[in-house]
Amino acid sequence: MSATRIWIKNPLAIFTANQQDAAGGLVIENGVIVELLGAGQAPATPVDSSFDAREHVVLPGLVNTHHHFYQTLTRAWGPVVNEPLFDWLLTLYPVWARLTPRQLALASKVALAELLLSGCTTAADHHYLFPAGLDEAIDIQVEAVRELGMRAMLTRGSMNLGKHDGGLPCQSVVQTAEVILADSERLIDRYHERGDGAQIQIALAPCSPFSVTTDIMRASAEMAEKRDVRLHTHLAETLDEQEFCAQRFGMRTVDYLQSVGWLGPRTWLAHGIHFNQVEIHRLGAAGVGICHCPSSNMRLASGICHTLELEAKGATIGLGVDGSASNDASNMMLEARQALFIQRLRYGAQAITPEKVLGWATRGSARLLGRSDIGELAIGKQADLALFKLDELRFSGSHDPIAALLLCGADRADRVMIGGEWRVIDGQIEGLDIAGLIADHSQAARRLIAG
Ligand SMILES: [Zn+2]
Repeated sequence: MSATRIWIKNPLAIFTANQQDAAGGLVIENGVIVELLGAGQAPATPVDSSFDAREHVVLPGLVNTHHHFYQTLTRAWGPVVNEPLFDWLLTLYPVWARLTPRQLALASKVALAELLLSGCTTAADHHYLFPAGLDEAIDIQVEAVRELGMRAMLTRGSMNLGKHDGGLPCQSVVQTAEVILADSERLIDRYHERGDGAQIQIALAPCSPFSVTTDIMRASAEMAEKRDVRLHTHLAETLDEQEFCAQRFGMRTVDYLQSVGWLGPRTWLAHGIHFNQVEIHRLGAAGVGICHCPSSNMRLASGICHTLELEAKGATIGLGVDGSASNDASNMMLEARQALFIQRLRYGAQAITPEKVLGWATRGSARLLGRSDIGELAIGKQADLALFKLDELRFSGSHDPIAALLLCGADRADRVMIGGEWRVIDGQIEGLDIAGLIADHSQAARRLIAG
Protein backbone atom coordinates (compact mmCIF):
# COMPACT_ATOMS: atom_id res chain seq x y z
CA MET A 1 0.00 0.00 0.00
CA SER A 2 1.17 3.52 -0.69
CA ALA A 3 1.73 5.96 2.12
CA THR A 4 -1.10 8.33 2.86
CA ARG A 5 0.87 11.37 1.73
CA ILE A 6 3.69 10.97 -0.78
CA TRP A 7 5.93 13.51 -2.51
CA ILE A 8 7.11 12.70 -6.06
CA LYS A 9 10.18 14.83 -5.58
CA ASN A 10 12.20 17.02 -7.97
CA PRO A 11 11.67 15.18 -11.27
CA LEU A 12 14.24 15.41 -14.06
CA ALA A 13 11.37 16.86 -16.12
CA ILE A 14 7.60 16.92 -15.79
CA PHE A 15 4.79 17.40 -18.30
CA THR A 16 1.53 18.39 -16.62
CA ALA A 17 -0.59 18.68 -19.83
CA ASN A 18 -1.91 22.03 -18.61
CA GLN A 19 1.18 24.27 -18.58
CA GLN A 20 1.27 24.46 -14.79
CA ASP A 21 4.71 24.46 -13.23
CA ALA A 22 5.58 21.41 -11.17
CA ALA A 23 9.39 21.45 -11.35
CA GLY A 24 9.55 20.57 -7.63
CA GLY A 25 7.21 17.63 -8.14
CA LEU A 26 3.81 16.87 -6.71
CA VAL A 27 2.21 15.66 -3.52
CA ILE A 28 -0.36 12.87 -3.46
CA GLU A 29 -2.79 12.20 -0.67
CA ASN A 30 -5.04 9.13 -0.72
CA GLY A 31 -4.64 8.67 -4.46
CA VAL A 32 -5.32 12.27 -5.44
CA ILE A 33 -2.89 15.08 -6.34
CA VAL A 34 -3.08 17.74 -3.62
CA GLU A 35 -0.08 19.98 -4.39
CA LEU A 36 2.07 20.98 -7.37
CA LEU A 37 5.43 22.37 -6.30
CA GLY A 38 7.63 24.91 -8.06
CA ALA A 39 11.41 24.46 -8.27
CA GLY A 40 12.96 24.44 -4.79
CA GLN A 41 9.59 24.34 -3.03
CA ALA A 42 8.78 21.85 -0.30
CA PRO A 43 5.33 20.44 0.56
CA ALA A 44 3.16 22.68 2.73
CA THR A 45 2.83 20.03 5.44
CA PRO A 46 5.03 16.99 6.21
CA VAL A 47 4.76 13.93 3.97
CA ASP A 48 4.82 10.27 5.02
CA SER A 49 7.28 9.36 2.29
CA SER A 50 8.91 10.75 -0.80
CA PHE A 51 10.03 9.26 -4.10
CA ASP A 52 13.21 10.78 -5.51
CA ALA A 53 12.38 11.37 -9.19
CA ARG A 54 15.62 13.08 -10.21
CA GLU A 55 16.22 10.43 -12.89
CA HIS A 56 12.62 10.35 -14.10
CA VAL A 57 10.54 12.20 -16.66
CA VAL A 58 7.02 12.38 -15.20
CA LEU A 59 3.89 12.36 -17.36
CA PRO A 60 0.21 12.01 -16.56
CA GLY A 61 -0.76 8.36 -17.10
CA LEU A 62 -1.42 7.92 -20.82
CA VAL A 63 -4.99 7.21 -21.93
CA ASN A 64 -5.68 4.87 -24.83
CA THR A 65 -9.03 5.51 -26.49
CA HIS A 66 -9.35 2.75 -29.08
CA HIS A 67 -8.30 -0.89 -29.05
CA HIS A 68 -9.55 -4.43 -29.71
CA PHE A 69 -7.74 -6.47 -27.05
CA TYR A 70 -8.72 -9.80 -28.61
CA GLN A 71 -6.69 -8.99 -31.72
CA THR A 72 -3.41 -9.60 -29.87
CA LEU A 73 -4.09 -13.23 -30.87
CA THR A 74 -3.85 -12.41 -34.59
CA ARG A 75 -0.83 -10.10 -34.72
CA ALA A 76 1.32 -10.18 -37.83
CA TRP A 77 -0.71 -13.02 -39.32
CA GLY A 78 0.69 -13.83 -42.75
CA PRO A 79 -2.53 -13.85 -44.84
CA VAL A 80 -3.41 -10.22 -43.89
CA VAL A 81 0.01 -8.61 -43.53
CA ASN A 82 -0.39 -6.76 -46.83
CA GLU A 83 -4.17 -6.24 -47.01
CA PRO A 84 -6.22 -3.03 -46.80
CA LEU A 85 -9.12 -2.81 -44.32
CA PHE A 86 -11.99 -4.63 -46.09
CA ASP A 87 -9.93 -7.60 -47.33
CA TRP A 88 -8.14 -7.68 -43.98
CA LEU A 89 -11.52 -7.91 -42.19
CA LEU A 90 -13.01 -10.48 -44.58
CA THR A 91 -10.03 -12.78 -44.04
CA LEU A 92 -10.00 -12.32 -40.26
CA TYR A 93 -13.74 -12.57 -39.40
CA PRO A 94 -13.89 -16.39 -39.74
CA VAL A 95 -10.81 -16.74 -37.51
CA TRP A 96 -12.14 -14.34 -34.89
CA ALA A 97 -15.49 -16.19 -34.96
CA ARG A 98 -13.73 -19.05 -33.12
CA LEU A 99 -12.66 -16.90 -30.16
CA THR A 100 -13.20 -18.61 -26.80
CA PRO A 101 -13.58 -17.11 -23.30
CA ARG A 102 -10.14 -18.31 -22.24
CA GLN A 103 -8.50 -16.86 -25.35
CA LEU A 104 -10.19 -13.52 -24.75
CA ALA A 105 -9.08 -13.50 -21.11
CA LEU A 106 -5.46 -14.08 -22.13
CA ALA A 107 -5.64 -11.58 -24.99
CA SER A 108 -7.08 -8.88 -22.75
CA LYS A 109 -4.42 -9.45 -20.13
CA VAL A 110 -1.64 -9.25 -22.72
CA ALA A 111 -3.01 -6.03 -24.25
CA LEU A 112 -3.49 -4.40 -20.86
CA ALA A 113 -0.06 -5.44 -19.60
CA GLU A 114 1.55 -4.11 -22.74
CA LEU A 115 -0.30 -0.81 -22.44
CA LEU A 116 0.54 -0.50 -18.75
CA LEU A 117 4.25 -1.04 -19.38
CA SER A 118 4.13 1.75 -21.98
CA GLY A 119 2.82 4.19 -19.35
CA CYS A 120 -0.89 3.80 -20.05
CA THR A 121 -3.14 3.93 -16.98
CA THR A 122 -6.61 4.06 -18.59
CA ALA A 123 -7.56 1.95 -21.58
CA ALA A 124 -10.66 1.88 -23.76
CA ASP A 125 -11.52 -1.33 -25.55
CA HIS A 126 -13.97 -1.79 -28.39
CA HIS A 127 -15.17 -5.37 -28.16
CA TYR A 128 -17.83 -6.22 -30.76
CA LEU A 129 -17.26 -9.94 -31.16
CA PHE A 130 -19.73 -12.23 -29.40
CA PRO A 131 -19.73 -15.63 -31.14
CA ALA A 132 -21.62 -18.51 -29.51
CA GLY A 133 -20.22 -19.18 -26.03
CA LEU A 134 -18.71 -15.73 -25.62
CA ASP A 135 -21.78 -13.94 -24.29
CA GLU A 136 -19.85 -12.68 -21.28
CA ALA A 137 -16.97 -11.13 -23.18
CA ILE A 138 -17.12 -7.79 -21.37
CA ASP A 139 -17.32 -9.51 -17.96
CA ILE A 140 -14.11 -11.34 -18.87
CA GLN A 141 -12.45 -8.03 -19.70
CA VAL A 142 -13.58 -6.47 -16.42
CA GLU A 143 -11.77 -9.28 -14.60
CA ALA A 144 -8.54 -8.60 -16.51
CA VAL A 145 -8.70 -4.87 -15.83
CA ARG A 146 -9.24 -5.44 -12.12
CA GLU A 147 -6.40 -7.91 -11.95
CA LEU A 148 -3.96 -5.34 -13.34
CA GLY A 149 -5.40 -2.48 -11.29
CA MET A 150 -5.89 -0.22 -14.31
CA ARG A 151 -8.83 1.98 -15.28
CA ALA A 152 -10.89 1.10 -18.35
CA MET A 153 -13.69 2.23 -20.59
CA LEU A 154 -15.04 -1.07 -21.84
CA THR A 155 -17.37 -0.51 -24.74
CA ARG A 156 -20.15 -2.97 -25.46
CA GLY A 157 -19.57 -3.29 -29.17
CA SER A 158 -22.00 -4.87 -31.57
CA MET A 159 -22.48 -6.23 -35.07
CA ASN A 160 -25.97 -7.09 -36.39
CA LEU A 161 -25.57 -6.65 -40.15
CA GLY A 162 -24.15 -9.85 -41.62
CA LYS A 163 -23.30 -10.81 -45.16
CA HIS A 164 -26.85 -12.08 -45.82
CA ASP A 165 -28.21 -8.59 -45.23
CA GLY A 166 -25.60 -6.66 -47.17
CA GLY A 167 -23.04 -6.20 -44.38
CA LEU A 168 -19.39 -7.25 -44.31
CA PRO A 169 -19.11 -9.73 -41.38
CA CYS A 170 -19.86 -13.44 -41.66
CA GLN A 171 -23.22 -14.43 -40.13
CA SER A 172 -21.66 -16.36 -37.24
CA VAL A 173 -20.39 -13.18 -35.56
CA VAL A 174 -23.56 -11.06 -35.69
CA GLN A 175 -26.18 -10.84 -32.95
CA THR A 176 -29.78 -9.63 -32.90
CA ALA A 177 -30.61 -6.09 -31.75
CA GLU A 178 -32.58 -7.51 -28.80
CA VAL A 179 -29.62 -9.47 -27.47
CA ILE A 180 -27.26 -6.52 -27.96
CA LEU A 181 -29.49 -4.01 -26.18
CA ALA A 182 -30.35 -6.33 -23.29
CA ASP A 183 -26.66 -7.07 -22.68
CA SER A 184 -25.82 -3.36 -22.91
CA GLU A 185 -28.36 -2.57 -20.17
CA ARG A 186 -27.04 -5.42 -18.04
CA LEU A 187 -23.43 -4.21 -18.34
CA ILE A 188 -24.26 -0.60 -17.49
CA ASP A 189 -26.24 -1.76 -14.44
CA ARG A 190 -23.53 -4.10 -13.29
CA TYR A 191 -20.28 -2.28 -13.96
CA HIS A 192 -20.57 1.39 -14.92
CA GLU A 193 -19.02 3.59 -12.22
CA ARG A 194 -19.62 7.32 -12.15
CA GLY A 195 -17.64 10.22 -10.72
CA ASP A 196 -13.99 10.89 -9.96
CA GLY A 197 -11.69 7.92 -9.61
CA ALA A 198 -13.96 5.48 -11.49
CA GLN A 199 -12.15 2.27 -12.37
CA ILE A 200 -14.58 0.64 -14.81
CA GLN A 201 -16.91 2.44 -17.17
CA ILE A 202 -19.14 1.13 -19.96
CA ALA A 203 -19.96 2.77 -23.30
CA LEU A 204 -22.08 1.61 -26.26
CA ALA A 205 -20.24 0.90 -29.48
CA PRO A 206 -21.92 -0.47 -32.64
CA CYS A 207 -18.93 -1.48 -34.73
CA SER A 208 -19.05 0.40 -38.05
CA PRO A 209 -21.48 1.48 -40.81
CA PHE A 210 -20.82 -1.74 -42.72
CA SER A 211 -21.52 -4.10 -39.80
CA VAL A 212 -24.57 -2.65 -38.01
CA THR A 213 -28.08 -1.51 -38.94
CA THR A 214 -29.24 2.08 -38.57
CA ASP A 215 -31.80 0.75 -36.05
CA ILE A 216 -29.09 -0.39 -33.63
CA MET A 217 -27.29 2.93 -34.08
CA ARG A 218 -30.46 4.83 -33.16
CA ALA A 219 -31.35 2.55 -30.27
CA SER A 220 -27.80 2.82 -28.88
CA ALA A 221 -27.94 6.63 -29.04
CA GLU A 222 -31.26 6.59 -27.19
CA MET A 223 -29.97 4.26 -24.51
CA ALA A 224 -26.77 6.30 -24.11
CA GLU A 225 -28.85 9.42 -23.58
CA LYS A 226 -31.16 7.72 -21.10
CA ARG A 227 -28.39 6.03 -19.13
CA ASP A 228 -25.85 8.83 -19.51
CA VAL A 229 -23.03 6.76 -21.02
CA ARG A 230 -20.83 7.48 -24.01
CA LEU A 231 -21.04 6.35 -27.63
CA HIS A 232 -18.20 5.01 -29.73
CA THR A 233 -17.82 3.66 -33.27
CA HIS A 234 -15.43 3.46 -36.23
CA LEU A 235 -16.09 6.18 -38.80
CA ALA A 236 -14.50 7.55 -41.96
CA GLU A 237 -11.59 5.13 -41.74
CA THR A 238 -11.32 4.30 -45.45
CA LEU A 239 -12.60 5.33 -48.85
CA ASP A 240 -14.16 1.85 -49.17
CA GLU A 241 -16.33 2.70 -46.17
CA GLN A 242 -17.28 6.03 -47.75
CA GLU A 243 -18.30 4.14 -50.89
CA PHE A 244 -20.32 1.65 -48.80
CA CYS A 245 -22.23 4.52 -47.14
CA ALA A 246 -22.96 6.14 -50.50
CA GLN A 247 -24.27 2.83 -51.89
CA ARG A 248 -26.27 1.65 -48.89
CA PHE A 249 -27.49 4.87 -47.27
CA GLY A 250 -27.16 7.31 -50.17
CA MET A 251 -25.16 9.66 -47.97
CA ARG A 252 -21.71 10.52 -46.68
CA THR A 253 -20.49 9.41 -43.25
CA VAL A 254 -21.25 12.59 -41.29
CA ASP A 255 -24.80 12.74 -42.71
CA TYR A 256 -25.17 9.11 -41.69
CA LEU A 257 -23.92 9.95 -38.19
CA GLN A 258 -26.43 12.78 -37.89
CA SER A 259 -29.27 10.68 -39.32
CA VAL A 260 -28.92 8.14 -36.51
CA GLY A 261 -28.68 10.73 -33.71
CA TRP A 262 -24.95 10.47 -33.04
CA LEU A 263 -23.69 13.94 -33.96
CA GLY A 264 -23.07 15.23 -30.43
CA PRO A 265 -20.55 15.55 -27.58
CA ARG A 266 -21.34 12.09 -26.20
CA THR A 267 -19.73 10.49 -29.27
CA TRP A 268 -16.09 9.70 -29.90
CA LEU A 269 -15.03 8.20 -33.22
CA ALA A 270 -12.10 5.96 -34.07
CA HIS A 271 -10.02 7.16 -37.05
CA GLY A 272 -12.09 10.07 -38.48
CA ILE A 273 -9.95 10.44 -41.58
CA HIS A 274 -12.06 11.07 -44.67
CA PHE A 275 -13.96 14.27 -43.88
CA ASN A 276 -14.27 17.36 -46.08
CA GLN A 277 -14.02 20.90 -44.66
CA VAL A 278 -17.79 21.28 -44.19
CA GLU A 279 -17.93 17.96 -42.33
CA ILE A 280 -14.99 18.96 -40.14
CA HIS A 281 -16.87 22.13 -39.23
CA ARG A 282 -20.01 20.14 -38.36
CA LEU A 283 -18.12 17.62 -36.24
CA GLY A 284 -16.32 20.41 -34.39
CA ALA A 285 -19.48 22.39 -33.78
CA ALA A 286 -21.14 19.26 -32.38
CA GLY A 287 -18.21 18.61 -30.02
CA VAL A 288 -17.54 15.11 -31.35
CA GLY A 289 -14.28 13.49 -30.18
CA ILE A 290 -11.83 11.93 -32.62
CA CYS A 291 -9.43 9.15 -31.70
CA HIS A 292 -6.43 9.39 -34.02
CA CYS A 293 -4.86 5.95 -34.66
CA PRO A 294 -1.69 6.72 -36.64
CA SER A 295 -0.03 3.28 -36.68
CA SER A 296 -3.15 1.45 -37.82
CA ASN A 297 -3.89 4.13 -40.42
CA MET A 298 -0.39 3.75 -41.83
CA ARG A 299 -0.35 -0.05 -41.68
CA LEU A 300 -3.64 -0.39 -43.57
CA ALA A 301 -2.82 2.67 -45.70
CA SER A 302 -6.18 4.18 -44.75
CA GLY A 303 -5.21 7.87 -44.76
CA ILE A 304 -4.16 10.71 -42.41
CA CYS A 305 -6.52 12.30 -39.87
CA HIS A 306 -7.03 16.09 -40.16
CA THR A 307 -6.26 16.65 -36.49
CA LEU A 308 -5.51 20.38 -36.44
CA GLU A 309 -8.49 21.37 -38.59
CA LEU A 310 -10.79 19.26 -36.42
CA GLU A 311 -9.36 20.80 -33.27
CA ALA A 312 -9.63 24.32 -34.67
CA LYS A 313 -13.35 23.74 -35.25
CA GLY A 314 -13.96 22.46 -31.72
CA ALA A 315 -13.43 18.69 -31.87
CA THR A 316 -11.28 17.02 -29.21
CA ILE A 317 -8.39 14.86 -30.39
CA GLY A 318 -7.11 11.82 -28.50
CA LEU A 319 -4.93 8.86 -29.43
CA GLY A 320 -5.53 5.15 -29.79
CA VAL A 321 -3.32 2.20 -30.67
CA ASP A 322 -6.26 0.41 -32.39
CA GLY A 323 -6.48 -3.39 -32.40
CA SER A 324 -3.32 -5.42 -32.39
CA ALA A 325 -4.04 -7.02 -35.75
CA SER A 326 -3.51 -3.64 -37.43
CA ASN A 327 -0.73 -1.99 -35.41
CA ASP A 328 0.47 -4.59 -34.14
CA ALA A 329 1.70 -3.18 -30.82
CA SER A 330 -0.28 -1.95 -27.82
CA ASN A 331 2.23 0.73 -26.91
CA MET A 332 0.98 4.24 -26.20
CA MET A 333 4.41 5.88 -26.23
CA LEU A 334 5.21 4.49 -29.66
CA GLU A 335 1.75 5.60 -30.79
CA ALA A 336 2.48 9.16 -29.66
CA ARG A 337 5.75 9.01 -31.61
CA GLN A 338 3.90 7.88 -34.75
CA ALA A 339 1.33 10.66 -34.28
CA LEU A 340 4.14 13.20 -34.04
CA PHE A 341 5.71 12.04 -37.27
CA ILE A 342 2.64 11.48 -39.44
CA GLN A 343 1.03 14.75 -38.35
CA ARG A 344 4.27 16.60 -39.16
CA LEU A 345 3.98 15.24 -42.68
CA ARG A 346 0.57 16.90 -42.91
CA TYR A 347 1.12 20.13 -40.99
CA GLY A 348 4.86 20.73 -40.82
CA ALA A 349 7.42 20.30 -38.05
CA GLN A 350 6.72 23.52 -36.17
CA ALA A 351 2.97 22.90 -35.80
CA ILE A 352 3.29 19.47 -34.18
CA THR A 353 5.43 19.54 -31.05
CA PRO A 354 6.13 16.66 -28.64
CA GLU A 355 4.06 18.53 -26.02
CA LYS A 356 1.14 18.82 -28.43
CA VAL A 357 1.13 15.08 -29.09
CA LEU A 358 1.59 14.16 -25.43
CA GLY A 359 -1.39 16.44 -24.75
CA TRP A 360 -3.48 14.32 -27.14
CA ALA A 361 -2.27 11.11 -25.45
CA THR A 362 -3.27 12.36 -21.99
CA ARG A 363 -5.70 15.25 -21.58
CA GLY A 364 -7.26 14.95 -25.04
CA SER A 365 -7.80 11.20 -24.69
CA ALA A 366 -9.31 11.65 -21.21
CA ARG A 367 -11.80 14.14 -22.62
CA LEU A 368 -12.82 11.68 -25.33
CA LEU A 369 -13.81 9.30 -22.55
CA GLY A 370 -15.73 12.05 -20.79
CA ARG A 371 -13.29 12.20 -17.90
CA SER A 372 -12.04 15.35 -16.21
CA ASP A 373 -10.40 13.57 -13.26
CA ILE A 374 -7.51 12.06 -15.25
CA GLY A 375 -5.18 13.00 -18.13
CA GLU A 376 -3.37 15.89 -16.48
CA LEU A 377 -1.39 16.74 -13.39
CA ALA A 378 -3.27 19.30 -11.31
CA ILE A 379 -4.70 19.64 -7.83
CA GLY A 380 -7.73 17.41 -7.40
CA LYS A 381 -6.86 15.04 -10.27
CA GLN A 382 -6.26 11.33 -9.76
CA ALA A 383 -2.65 10.35 -9.07
CA ASP A 384 -2.17 8.44 -12.35
CA LEU A 385 1.47 8.86 -13.38
CA ALA A 386 3.92 7.42 -15.90
CA LEU A 387 7.61 7.80 -15.08
CA PHE A 388 10.33 7.21 -17.67
CA LYS A 389 14.08 6.91 -17.19
CA LEU A 390 16.47 8.05 -19.88
CA ASP A 391 19.28 5.66 -19.03
CA GLU A 392 19.01 3.35 -22.03
CA LEU A 393 21.45 3.47 -24.94
CA ARG A 394 18.85 5.07 -27.19
CA PHE A 395 18.73 8.21 -25.02
CA SER A 396 22.46 8.65 -24.60
CA GLY A 397 23.43 12.15 -25.75
CA SER A 398 19.86 13.53 -25.68
CA HIS A 399 19.21 16.97 -24.18
CA ASP A 400 15.53 17.92 -23.91
CA PRO A 401 14.03 15.12 -21.76
CA ILE A 402 10.41 15.54 -22.93
CA ALA A 403 11.39 15.64 -26.61
CA ALA A 404 13.74 12.70 -26.06
CA LEU A 405 10.82 10.48 -25.01
CA LEU A 406 9.29 10.72 -28.47
CA LEU A 407 12.27 11.47 -30.70
CA CYS A 408 14.49 8.73 -29.25
CA GLY A 409 11.59 6.27 -29.03
CA ALA A 410 10.82 5.63 -25.34
CA ASP A 411 8.70 2.51 -25.21
CA ARG A 412 8.73 1.36 -21.63
CA ALA A 413 7.92 3.13 -18.37
CA ASP A 414 10.15 2.56 -15.36
CA ARG A 415 7.29 3.22 -12.95
CA VAL A 416 3.55 3.63 -13.29
CA MET A 417 1.17 4.78 -10.57
CA ILE A 418 -2.61 4.48 -10.72
CA GLY A 419 -4.74 6.18 -8.07
CA GLY A 420 -1.70 6.51 -5.82
CA GLU A 421 -0.67 2.84 -6.10
CA TRP A 422 2.51 1.75 -7.89
CA ARG A 423 1.50 -0.79 -10.54
CA VAL A 424 4.86 -0.85 -12.35
CA ILE A 425 8.16 -0.77 -10.46
CA ASP A 426 11.56 -0.98 -12.18
CA GLY A 427 9.85 -1.74 -15.48
CA GLN A 428 7.96 -4.75 -14.06
CA ILE A 429 4.25 -5.14 -13.41
CA GLU A 430 3.65 -5.92 -9.76
CA GLY A 431 2.49 -9.51 -9.26
CA LEU A 432 2.36 -10.52 -12.94
CA ASP A 433 4.19 -13.54 -14.35
CA ILE A 434 4.94 -12.14 -17.82
CA ALA A 435 6.81 -15.22 -19.07
CA GLY A 436 3.89 -17.46 -18.10
CA LEU A 437 1.42 -15.10 -19.73
CA ILE A 438 3.41 -15.03 -22.99
CA ALA A 439 3.58 -18.83 -23.05
CA ASP A 440 -0.17 -19.29 -22.50
CA HIS A 441 -1.14 -16.50 -24.88
CA SER A 442 1.15 -17.67 -27.69
CA GLN A 443 -0.28 -21.15 -27.46
CA ALA A 444 -3.84 -19.75 -27.49
CA ALA A 445 -2.97 -17.67 -30.58
CA ARG A 446 -1.67 -20.73 -32.44
CA ARG A 447 -4.81 -22.69 -31.55
CA LEU A 448 -7.09 -19.90 -32.75
CA ILE A 449 -5.39 -19.72 -36.14
CA ALA A 450 -5.30 -23.53 -36.50
CA GLY A 451 -9.09 -23.64 -35.98
ZN1 LIG B 1 -10.62 -0.32 -34.51
